[in-house]
Parts: sequence; C-alpha cells; structure tokens
Amino acid sequence: MKFFSALLLFLLATSTPLALAEQTAAQLAEQELPSLVQIYKDLHTHPELSTQEKETSALIAKELKAAGCEVTDHLGKYETPGLTGYGVVGIMKNGEGPTVLIRTDMDALPVEEETGLPYASKVTTTDQAGKTVHVMHACGHDAHMAIFIGVARALARTKDQWHGTIEFVGQPAEETGSGAKALLADGLYKRFPKPDYAIGYHDNAELPTGTIGVRPGYVFANVDSVDITVRGIGGHGAYPHKTKDPVVLASEIVMGLQTIASRENNPLDPIVITVGSIHGGTKHNIIPDEVKMQLTVRSYKPEVRKHVLEAIARVAKGMAIAAGFPEDKMPIVHVEEDEFTPATYNNPELTGRLTNVWKSAIGAEHVVDKDPTMGGEDFSEYSLPDHSVPACDFWIGAVAPEKVAASEKSGQPLPSLHSSKFAPVPEPTIKLGVTAVTTAVLDLMGKK
Ligand SMILES: [Zn+2]
Ligand SMILES: [Zn+2]
Repeated sequence: MKFFSALLLFLLATSTPLALAEQTAAQLAEQELPSLVQIYKDLHTHPELSTQEKETSALIAKELKAAGCEVTDHLGKYETPGLTGYGVVGIMKNGEGPTVLIRTDMDALPVEEETGLPYASKVTTTDQAGKTVHVMHACGHDAHMAIFIGVARALARTKDQWHGTIEFVGQPAEETGSGAKALLADGLYKRFPKPDYAIGYHDNAELPTGTIGVRPGYVFANVDSVDITVRGIGGHGAYPHKTKDPVVLASEIVMGLQTIASRENNPLDPIVITVGSIHGGTKHNIIPDEVKMQLTVRSYKPEVRKHVLEAIARVAKGMAIAAGFPEDKMPIVHVEEDEFTPATYNNPELTGRLTNVWKSAIGAEHVVDKDPTMGGEDFSEYSLPDHSVPACDFWIGAVAPEKVAASEKSGQPLPSLHSSKFAPVPEPTIKLGVTAVTTAVLDLMGKK
C-alpha cells in the first residue's frame, strides 16, 4: 500500500505542468460550452457591419469585465472621418511575466443569410454608402468572439498556472482592413503594453471540426488596391483615327499586366494582379475620354510588392506610349496606401512551439499543415511592419467531418467563408478554439 502511494506521488511529481494545463483547458472549455454556444447564437442572430459594432463590442466589454479584465472600450481612430471606433481592450494581469495579445474580430458582412438555421440572421442595416443591406456573420467572427470569451473565462480560472499580462483585443472592421490599423493609431501599443507575442485565429470552411491548420512563414498576402485612370481623346465611334481610344488601351493594359506575373516575377514568389472593375463609355458609337479600372494586387515579400506596384505603373504608361497617346494623356496610376493590408507572417519559432503544444494537446493527427493563401487578414498589423512582435495566426476547423468527406468524394465545393450558406458547427469549433488558445497561452506564460 505504502509503495503504491509513493508511486502515485512520484507520478504526480513527474507529470509535466503542461499536461495538467492542457487537461484543464479542454475541461474548462467543455464546462463553458453551453454558455458560449448561447452567446455565439445570440451574436449570429444580431450581426453588425464593419465600423458599426456597437452592441457587439458592448457585449465583449461586459464579458471581459465579468472575467476580471480591466476594460477600455470605444477604441480606434479611423482615417475616414465620422466613424466611431468600437474596439475593446481587456487587460488581465497576474504578476510579472510576458505579455500575450489575443485578438478576436467582431464585424459581419453585407450578405443575406441562406443557411436556414433557426438562429439565422434577418438583420438589415444601412451601410456607409447609405444603401440598405442584409447583414450576416458569414466569416464566422461570431465563433471567434465566443472562443475569445471562453479563453478569458478559462484563463481567469487558471491563474495559479500562469503569470504575466494578457491583452484581450476585440477588433472592429476586420473585413474592411481598417480595424487593426485604427486601434494602433489610437495608441494600442502606447496606452497598453506592446506584447511579447500575438495570437490570432480564424475558423476554416474546409477543415473538419477538431482540426487545427497552421504553418510558419507567410500565410496571408499583402493586399494593395490600385486605381488606374486610362485617359484618351474621345470622339465618334465611326472615326477612330481621329481619337485616342482609351477602351482599346485599357484592354491592352489588362492583358499586359498579366505578363508582370508570368514574365517578370520569380514564379517562386507568388503574386496576383486582378482587375476587378473596369468602366468606360456611355453608348455604342461614342469613343469615351476615359476608362477607370480598379485592381487588387497580392504579394508576400516587401521587395516583391514594391516591384509589382512599380511594374503596374510602367506597363500602363509604356502601353500608352506604344499606342501614341500624348504625354499629357498618360494613364494615372494611384496606389491606395490607406487601404494597404500587410502580409501575415507567422513567426517560425513561435509557430513551431505552438504546433508542438497543440500536437500534444489534441493529437498530432489533428494538427495539419495548411497552405497559405493570397487572401488578406489585418491581424498582420499586430506584429508591426518589422515583425518585432512574434505572431501566430491559425485555422480552426469548422465543418462537420462527414461534409468534408462528402465534398472530397463528390468534388462539390463546400460553402466558403463569406458565402450566404457558411454555417460552422458551433460546439466542436468553439470547444477546440478555447482549448487551442488557452493551451497556447498557458505554454507561453506558464509557471515553469
Ligand atoms: Zn472575412
Ligand atoms: Zn474573417
């Protein structure tokens, strides 16, 4: 008997604090789940557009306060005048130690929900342009918020296992790429500590529930918006020789731009140049004076971004010269610097560390390498342009495994993020999210 108690004591003493912490995180997630799912459904039914997150941010502030955070709300300075910053920061202090930032986004999209769920959104609102639009959490930010609240509750109850400062950031306007910037402009890293680590997460519309997708290095692209005004000399459609036709020149520019990607750029450095909008002219038989184009340009590395933006201006101008356009009618190429979202770079050391933590917490087979995308995510802002704040942004599977299997078998794609039919499975998605973020924080801040 004595031997067995000694053995038990020995086993307890040698089991790592990490193993205990992980068990606790999953258990805490489980305990909070009914309440978190209720919050999730409530948020899902009442979505708010980017920069209009009034009620949503109030709920986040209330929940962070209830979890014991010191809360500051109405944070965020936008470049567009007249917009209210609905950012929320909750500081949870627990002695000396590292500072870890955890971010959730809070905004929804102008989409009419078609999920048929009992808690589907029927909300309509007025957007910034004054148009009436439907609103839906079609990007799953409602799940992110439920996870965020669950993490705050779990960490409040495990203060014996960690020390330091946790900075909970409820971010507005992720979908417009302006929210994180607005928080930093309002002194996020001056009024509150600059973190030692930043953690972000997003639900994933392809990965099965119970799965984490993660990868070191670049995972989301630099996003640039470029406007090109192609100027010409208009006239009668029957006398093209008496005009300088901007429609023909614009068409050539659209095609010419693709050779930047195919001929000028190292194929191992991905770039995308998409002309998403082209408008010119009024009638069949009139050659207009002007054509306007709007481009989205994606890249990873800063030097590749610089090259592609310069090349776009050069190709546009070069083609106008080749077509004999006069010097004062050269195309005007404008890069919307205000709308730039930098690429998201997962710090390799931090990402490797967390990947191992998750593998031991939920099983190596549930942590998968996920391809990077040319999509954008303003979580990148928290690591600053020089990446001096090590950051990790990871995916949380949100689709029923049988649906993923059926889609792989039939080749029928699943509803993507932003689709009117995107419907994450709340319970397992939220539970895994809470477990993953909590175990990550306990590892980074754990009492060793
Ligand atoms: Zn989105
Ligand atoms: Zn999103």
